[in-house]
Amino acid sequence: MQNISEIDELIKIVSKLPGLGPKSAKRIVLKLVNNRDELIKPLASTLAQVYKNITRCKSCGSLKSNISGCANCEVIKDKFNKICVVEDLADQWSIENSNVYKGYFHILGGTISSVGNRKEDLLINSLVERVIRDKIEEVILATKENNSLQNGKRLV
Ligand SMILES: [Zn+2]
Repeated sequence: MQNISEIDELIKIVSKLPGLGPKSAKRIVLKLVNNRDELIKPLASTLAQVYKNITRCKSCGSLKSNISGCANCEVIKDKFNKICVVEDLADQWSIENSNVYKGYFHILGGTISSVGNRKEDLLINSLVERVIRDKIEEVILATKENNSLQNGKRLV
């Protein structure tokens, strides 16, 4: 196999994606380089736009467009009286896809157990602020480790 540093680097990066190992990464990179105009060009452009314009919302933890605002907590039109607290965005997407919950979401960014002593990395203060500001009557903990109260650890 040829050693082209840019390709090797791309394989290395792609293999870091979830569910992909070096073999899958090589197949993906081969597909990309064989479809320069159809895949590499729009992918590079889209990645640059996402890198530039999409950040984590400091209030709710969801992804936020720096152009249009946070669709999860800033520009949302519906008003709810309950909020569902999840660990990460994948959890929110799962619950949304199930169509069993209608309300606000709040993404903590992990759990106390998962972040260890970096409790300040979790969006706990902004959760309290949102509960007060939005007059929330029900907080639903939908974290994998919602038994943390039994371990003597409290979120707030
Ligand atoms: Zn937000």
